[in-house]
Amino acid sequence: MSLLLNVPYTEKEQAKSLGARWNPKLKKWYISDKNLYHKFKKWFSNIDSDIVVCKQIYVVEAERKCFRCGQNTPVISLAADYYVLFGEFFSDEGYVISKSNTEINLIEGIEFVPDVLAGYLKERFNFYVGFSKQNKKYKYYANHCKHCGVIHGDFYLHSQPDSPFFIWSKEDAQKIRVHKITLPYDIEIAGSVAWSDADEMIVAYSQFIDNPFMMDKY
Ligand SMILES: [Zn+2]
Repeated sequence: MSLLLNVPYTEKEQAKSLGARWNPKLKKWYISDKNLYHKFKKWFSNIDSDIVVCKQIYVVEAERKCFRCGQNTPVISLAADYYVLFGEFFSDEGYVISKSNTEINLIEGIEFVPDVLAGYLKERFNFYVGFSKQNKKYKYYANHCKHCGVIHGDFYLHSQPDSPFFIWSKEDAQKIRVHKITLPYDIEIAGSVAWSDADEMIVAYSQFIDNPFMMDKY
């Protein structure tokens, strides 16, 4: 698994000296060593990406009653169990690698995902960029009601007890469906990881489905 980079021709020697390699088929530079990803941020698709999700990404799906139209609508949260997280906050090196078989971590407040994935999430799950109701200047990837289109927010786990992702019990977790999307390349996301007690319960009790969506374009 590798991360594809946007290296301008004039900077190729610099990228190469840091460890990047050339993929002639894709005509792109890439980096495979996850311990080096943080050194390549200036060649990311989005300079503000603070997570690189590796190997697979999960779409955690639940149902919620729409506060406007009263009908039940699906709502999702992206999640990952293997990722590189960037930030001085996490370690002296400026990154940390998280890999787990026993939990998956939800990702909130998403401001960037690769275009191909964004298109799929909009079409399949009504998950697309909308403006926050509290702060009209803040836009992020949010759920929208399947029936009336109203924005449902992306459910801040710790602050919204009525969120279907606020999981306290085996029964809560059993109502959740988890779509596993296998990734041909590692992908960038701008957002934040929300660790909680739900993470292990989702792995233990939720229903996992292999999702056929393939990110064959990037
Ligand atoms: Zn509605």
